[in-house]
Amino acid sequence: MNIVLYGPPGAGKGTQAIKIAEKYNFVHLSTGDIFRKNIKENTELGKLASSYMDHGELVPDEVTIKMLEDTANQYPDAKGIIFDGFPRTIAQAEALDAFLEREHGQKVDKTLSLEVENEELIRRLLERGKTSGRPDDADENIISNRIVEYNNKTAPLKNYYVQQGKFYKIEGVGGIDAIFERLAAEIE
Ligand code: AMP
Repeated sequence: MNIVLYGPPGAGKGTQAIKIAEKYNFVHLSTGDIFRKNIKENTELGKLASSYMDHGELVPDEVTIKMLEDTANQYPDAKGIIFDGFPRTIAQAEALDAFLEREHGQKVDKTLSLEVENEELIRRLLERGKTSGRPDDADENIISNRIVEYNNKTAPLKNYYVQQGKFYKIEGVGGIDAIFERLAAEIE
């Protein structure tokens, strides 16, 4: 089963993806986490990624898609994959479909969209920035830019998945466990 967890920055994708992976024994693939690991290890990919992430911009598709495919290929026997923060552009969504079909004869089964109001997103990100150590959470200008990038490049994905009948809205406010229950109900 291949699930895409979709939603703006601060919607709770990371928190919920971890819980989904745990409960269903799925592989959790977060492109943001992989970029941050590369930044920590000071790899070439990390240096390139941080030059975009530090401004709240998306890392170019070509680089992101290759990294995602290389990582997914490390789990040929995965029972399921939860994609967190990928795809974020139409080109990435098309590449993911092509990759799943080519390598595994599979498809994206569902896209679960965590729905949260803009004001609440900014509030959550600034709060998270106090402890996350993420430079892109600590600065309101960078946060705004991430939301602009989301609206310009990622929001169009909704239609892409709606047209395929795969798009499911999940109310993303309330307690972590309550939100998780809603996601689990949709997965099951
Ligand atoms: P996240 O951890 O998902 O909030 O991602 C943090 C940052 O990593 C984003 O603001 C982007 O700069 C970069 N990033 C993560 N995933 C992607 C992606 N699928 N495409 C492009 N950039 C990404």
